Amino acid sequence: MTKMVYMFDEGNSEMKEILGGKGANLAEMTNIGLPVPYGFTISSQACNDYYNSGKRIQEEVESEILEALARLEKATGKKLGGTVNPLLVSVRSGSVFSMPGMMDTVLNLGMNDQTVEAIAHLTDNPRFAYDSYRRFIQMFSNVVLEIDVFYFEQHLEKRREAKGYHSDPEMTAEDWKEIISDYKGIVKKHIRQEFPQDPLEQLFLAIHAVFDSWNNQRAIVYRQLNKIPGHYGTAVNIQSMVFGNMGNDSGTGVAFTRNPSTGEALLYGEYLINAQGEDVVAGIRTPHPIETLQKDMPEVFSQFVEVCNRLEHHYRDMQDIEFTVEHGELFILQTRNGKRTAQAAIRIAVEMVKEGVLTQREAIGRVEPEQLNQLLHRRIDDKYQKNILAKGLPASPGAATGKVVFDPDEAEQLHIEGVKVILVRSETTPDDIHGIIASQGVVTSRGGMTSHAAVVARGMGKSCICGCEALKIDMQQQQFQVGDTVVKHLETITIDGGTGEIIVGEIPMIDPELSDEFGLLLSWADQERTIDVRANADNPEDAKKAVEFGAEGIGLCRTEHMFMEADRVPIVQQMILAETEEERKRALDFLLPMQESDFEGIFQAMQGLPVTIRLLDPPLHEFLPDKEHLAVEVAKMQILEPDSPQLADKEKLLKRVRQLHESNPMLGHRGCRLGIIYPEIYQMQATAIFNTAAALESKGITVKPEIMIPLVGHVNELKIMRQLVNDTAVAVQNKTGIPIEYTIGTMIEVPRAALTANEIAAEADFFSFGTNDLTQTTFGYSRDDAEAKFLKDYIENKILPDNPFAVLDQSGVGALMKTGIQLGKQTRPQLKTGICGEHGGEKTSIEFCCLQGLDYVSCSPYRVPLARLAAAQAAVKNELQKRKLSIN
Ligand code: ADP
Ligand code: MG
Ligand code: MG
Repeated sequence: MTKMVYMFDEGNSEMKEILGGKGANLAEMTNIGLPVPYGFTISSQACNDYYNSGKRIQEEVESEILEALARLEKATGKKLGGTVNPLLVSVRSGSVFSMPGMMDTVLNLGMNDQTVEAIAHLTDNPRFAYDSYRRFIQMFSNVVLEIDVFYFEQHLEKRREAKGYHSDPEMTAEDWKEIISDYKGIVKKHIRQEFPQDPLEQLFLAIHAVFDSWNNQRAIVYRQLNKIPGHYGTAVNIQSMVFGNMGNDSGTGVAFTRNPSTGEALLYGEYLINAQGEDVVAGIRTPHPIETLQKDMPEVFSQFVEVCNRLEHHYRDMQDIEFTVEHGELFILQTRNGKRTAQAAIRIAVEMVKEGVLTQREAIGRVEPEQLNQLLHRRIDDKYQKNILAKGLPASPGAATGKVVFDPDEAEQLHIEGVKVILVRSETTPDDIHGIIASQGVVTSRGGMTSHAAVVARGMGKSCICGCEALKIDMQQQQFQVGDTVVKHLETITIDGGTGEIIVGEIPMIDPELSDEFGLLLSWADQERTIDVRANADNPEDAKKAVEFGAEGIGLCRTEHMFMEADRVPIVQQMILAETEEERKRALDFLLPMQESDFEGIFQAMQGLPVTIRLLDPPLHEFLPDKEHLAVEVAKMQILEPDSPQLADKEKLLKRVRQLHESNPMLGHRGCRLGIIYPEIYQMQATAIFNTAAALESKGITVKPEIMIPLVGHVNELKIMRQLVNDTAVAVQNKTGIPIEYTIGTMIEVPRAALTANEIAAEADFFSFGTNDLTQTTFGYSRDDAEAKFLKDYIENKILPDNPFAVLDQSGVGALMKTGIQLGKQTRPQLKTGICGEHGGEKTSIEFCCLQGLDYVSCSPYRVPLARLAAAQAAVKNELQKRKLSIN
């Protein structure tokens, strides 16, 4: 049978899967000679066996536990339940991934009516003995017998007050003795049984309870949040007790070897004199900063500093350490890699390289790419008190203050007038885009982190909170309500999209400070990565941001936003309503100079870096008013103002809107299908690109346009569009006499394109995988519908591992990408390949793209630093794997 129980000197830090993080590190510290109270660890496999056998501890495991207990008793010279020298232990949970505070621990186990007397006698400190016993009853009752601590604490407080005390240390031995008797009464009342007196029974009950705590509600939620699989189980550590509550020469505390919020290389921690483990975190007494321990216990302090240095060097990472001092003797009870903010993670990684502890490559792996998000946005200054009204999903980081508006048109209007607004909607649709652009931030009461509003806001680096269900929006009254608080139209609120917090009023904010360490770490990352990082940017501001964050080009410049600006919509509508080609051309002639100015700003911002421009993609009805709205308006006019000169126009518009209406726009007349039926549109766009390029080239500014045709499914579509673009280029060159270098490629975003990539590559200089549409067309999901209706259930019930619109589905969509690349390169070995879906900014998807040998990933400007880091991590991991393979 597999060994299930390990003494501390039988394990080491590599055995986390078996012993859990806490157990493995206790073993490691024991082996390197640190003062760790002795004990043993029951493996997490025993936990799984426990669950598999219907919550029973197998006999073999039980006898291993008893054997280990005997060894512990021998090593300490104490006996569990002994009346001369009783052994007291803690029973501590600890799984492979640290889940701070999520599972249970029991201290002082082994206390009963007899052993407490022995301890009182032995220590000559009855107060301490009774205090420890009452703590045990309270903790055991809570964790094992499931009696709420409230009953005990309420009682304790009453007694304390009755005695006129302010805090626990004032309680005497006699006081505790009385409390113990009362506590036993509380237990009996709740479970109709006496508090268990047999220490062995206590031990096994506690082990059961710790196993059970693996599946308590908060542990389950924590695992879901942090994507920790449920199959690991928790190990259980049985450790002999040391006591920080033995008097003023005793104490307990927690310290980080460096500051976990700034990263500064200074010990950071807290302690309490005459207290036991839990007291520090429980917040009953205010702990002292670790520095004052130097005064309180100079010798212990210098010894502790030495231990900290040693542990940090040993683990080569910042440590989070628990310690206890018993009669002036220091004991270490836990160490783990400390959790830290992004800022601290970066500073610590860079400084550890400077200290010679880490290599640059290792430092790259020490920062979680997703964390970088915290650093790139304005945030609320923590110095200020904030009164949180409600909390939603932190969908797009950054903080914003503005006046509440409920209507996107109004948001736009106020924005023009220079008023800062926050758009509050029950949900957002693509129609709201102009309102989002005009707002400082967006709040929705429905929808998740990948909802449309969130995606759009993240793309723009705009603060967004989604799914804030506490928010009851009343459009009629123009207000929203949370509980009893009503917030009216145009009242000021502050939102923090990094935390999901909504606050009434204005709160001061701080700008992101990008440290030198941040730049340095990313420059190291750039040396490692094998894939380029570009940005998706539709306007000069975004393009500038992208360059600032290190983008090496634009991977996707969408042109539809350019058509949606307020002053252009009427012209765009004219173009759409045109009945003749002539009429359409006239409208397009108006749009041409506008498009030229768009491209000019972007090309200039990119300073000679490549810019992939996608020609118009969405169906035309998106530029027209809503069908239902318009129908109502026309009907009203027909009755109320039948002579109005505008009626005919409106009727015409409605007719066209009806004509263009599609039952399934996602699969309708869009992408290159538009370009084929209305070639004048693409021709105008291409002319604008080439005119601008020529004008800039003549000023000595290098321009690298890459023209991208969307939604190609058959090579013939691309062939026609390519011809059109080439002809346009020739026409412009003939006119200007300036040669322009450009390439023409396509998006691969329907399965047929990937499957016939060998044919399509004959007409394409590059492929860009549009994985948003490719995911829609591969799964046959419409994203908006899927995310609004069933995807959440799918993920909760593990039908899908992740939202495929956020995390690339490697086995389906990814397989099509592989096929596309392989077939495409058969025809055109030099074919350039990239990804421009939102996946281009997601860690695991980036890793996949690196492995497939794509030339670049493209993501929103604000995710560029993240992508640079993730790409470097993927490259390092990939190389390490290759090296491993070649060794084996
Ligand atoms: P958590 O995972 O919630 O931190 P722990 O198992 O680490 O739970 O224990 C909670 C507290 O009890 C910690 O402060 C720890 O240092 C203290 N503690 C645990 N075991 C012992 C022991 N054998 N002697 C003294 N204190 C202990
Ligand atoms: Mg702990
Ligand atoms: Mg698309």
